[in-house]
Amino acid sequence: MVEHIYMDYNSTTPIAPVVIEKMADAMKKIYANPSGLHHLSRDAMDVVNSSREKIMNMLGAGEGRIVYTGSGTESDNLGIIGFARSNKNKGRHIITSSIEHPGVLNACKYLESTGFDVTYLPVNSNGEVEPEALENSIRKDTILVSVMYANNETGVIQPIKELVEISHRKGIEFHTDAVQAAGKLRIDVKNLGVDMLSISAHKFYGPKGVGALYIRDGINLDPIIYGGGHEFGLRSGTLNVPGIVGMETALDYSMKNFDDGALRIRTYRDELERHFLESIKGLTLNGGVKNRVFNTFNVTIPGVKGGEMVVMLELYNIFVSSGSACSSKKKKPSHVLISMGLTEKESNSSLRFSLGKFNTHDDVEKAKQLVPYVVERVRNTHARDCNKVAKGGA
Ligand code: PLP
Repeated sequence: MVEHIYMDYNSTTPIAPVVIEKMADAMKKIYANPSGLHHLSRDAMDVVNSSREKIMNMLGAGEGRIVYTGSGTESDNLGIIGFARSNKNKGRHIITSSIEHPGVLNACKYLESTGFDVTYLPVNSNGEVEPEALENSIRKDTILVSVMYANNETGVIQPIKELVEISHRKGIEFHTDAVQAAGKLRIDVKNLGVDMLSISAHKFYGPKGVGALYIRDGINLDPIIYGGGHEFGLRSGTLNVPGIVGMETALDYSMKNFDDGALRIRTYRDELERHFLESIKGLTLNGGVKNRVFNTFNVTIPGVKGGEMVVMLELYNIFVSSGSACSSKKKKPSHVLISMGLTEKESNSSLRFSLGKFNTHDDVEKAKQLVPYVVERVRNTHARDCNKVAKGGA
């Protein structure tokens, strides 16, 4: 079998073997509907609640609740739209950032269409939201701030604690999309001070199609899905028991030997990044390096297009992303890089490398050889095409 050099972990992670084992076991044994009355159902609900408690503990939540959702996107939607609907009598202004995932941005756009006002905070050239920008945007009718913990394209970590303090001083609640932070940072909701936090299992070696929203005690939400009233009336729908078991197992797996794992992946990331900076002419890094998750780097490579690089690298079994996974098919420049001040052309020449637990040093060595080679090939092809056009036109 051809070995894949998979460096697209921010898009999704492979599922850890221990997660597959636990999920398969749950699928075989815990098949009853957790909402039923008989003891098989009660046993299933015990499993769901035991996972809930363990996830709460792993997120540092002494109080509050976890509501299971079908994705990170749904968790973002429930946190933002559910909060807005429930608290609209207090005000109709929401603040978010211009670099959020579409799960947040489009939830906000929807709220705008229903009469809410949304401010989209800019970021500096490092890709960070500046606390003063938040301070200056707060209004009397602001009810919620939602800023992501770590950005999916650049890996840049936002100053969440500071942003929470500013918001709370004015009595405004805070949601964070921690989908790219879970498994890459030690999350402690109490220490961060956030009121709501979203995660998604497939970003930390768990299954796709299961996420969660942490909600602090005292925060009121309206549901955004209506039905049988599962999950404290906030998320109707029969619970995905194997998915929930998988998410709990994956969060535990991603946090085990955290420091050693992070150090190894950071070393690989830094080695690759340094090599590309030295060997690919004109290559520049996107995003600040000081506050960045350990696995990600994003570069602009003049003379190539991100999309064509993805396709060319695939021929050599290297798998990366241009822009975010969700926007890369739309052929639109990355809204994150544009917000950081890149031109459309620079943004369209960007590539994201995101590494993870299953990468080896051999992967790094192969990528070090192949990526600069492919860049040269693509650049030479463009140069030949240009020459042909120039000669044809002469
Ligand atoms: N938020 C961020 C920062 C993400 O990177 C993603 C996925 O790429 C999501 C939310 C959405 O998560 P899901 O794919 O589970 O809907």
